[in-house]
Amino acid sequence: MNRVSFPQIECDEVFAKCLMSVGADEQDYKARMEEIAGVIAKQWKLFDDRISPKSLHQFKPCLPRRVDQIISKRVTKAELKKLYSSYMLKQDTEARKIYDKLRASAKNGICPMCGIYGVDTLDHYLPKARYPLLSVNPKNLLPACAHCNGAKSTDICESASDQTLYAYNDDNKFYETDWVSASISARYGLLTFDFYPSPPESWLRVERQRVINHFIRFDLRTKYVLNSSQLVRSITDTIRRMMSDGGDEEIICGHFASLASREKRNSTFRVMYNALANDEIICGGNF
Ligand SMILES: [Zn+2]
Repeated sequence: MNRVSFPQIECDEVFAKCLMSVGADEQDYKARMEEIAGVIAKQWKLFDDRISPKSLHQFKPCLPRRVDQIISKRVTKAELKKLYSSYMLKQDTEARKIYDKLRASAKNGICPMCGIYGVDTLDHYLPKARYPLLSVNPKNLLPACAHCNGAKSTDICESASDQTLYAYNDDNKFYETDWVSASISARYGLLTFDFYPSPPESWLRVERQRVINHFIRFDLRTKYVLNSSQLVRSITDTIRRMMSDGGDEEIICGHFASLASREKRNSTFRVMYNALANDEIICGGNF
């Protein structure tokens, strides 16, 4: 999980820029959209107001499916979704520049939700299928890998604890505290790691539930397990080599603790090294 610095974007201009991409043959669509510019501006302002108190769950979702339902004045859900898929994504437009800027905002091009895969797309924090007035709100669009974008799909956010981590603006504690742990099993000489969320007891209940929910929604267990497999061979070799060099479990545990301290919080490798540092049986070569 990574933070993302929100890029320099004039948010007030984004809706109008998306409408600039609308072709001459769809002027009726454009005119009806312009009628709801005030409604959109109000919703986006509300979004800004709800970021810091972490109350983005207070947006009321529209009905599922039924793409022809009227959302505001003479505009349907499908038309609001199209604002993103047809007009914000349209190549060589002002709106597309905003999309590209948001997509490029993730540090080192890594998906902020999982911290594992590269960014492929933008993810709607509140999905456009249920919150269509936010379909092109830049603050609602986070860079994401295809796996995380697909995993969350159209889940609605109904309670404070449903809010997954909001990479543009969330508490330091989520990024600076270890809250993912691993268990290790050793069968037939093969080490395997399993991962689970383990937020500190000292956190508020809603904070603990939020990270657990983040872990589940983005299926981080599967992603961490897959990512861990690339390191298993090297770990096994390290333990065997250190043992044959006369190292005991204390030295080997200390070695992994030192490796963990150099990795980013909650990254797959840090979690693995920490699990090893606390496992004297494995570090004693008993596998
Ligand atoms: Zn991801």
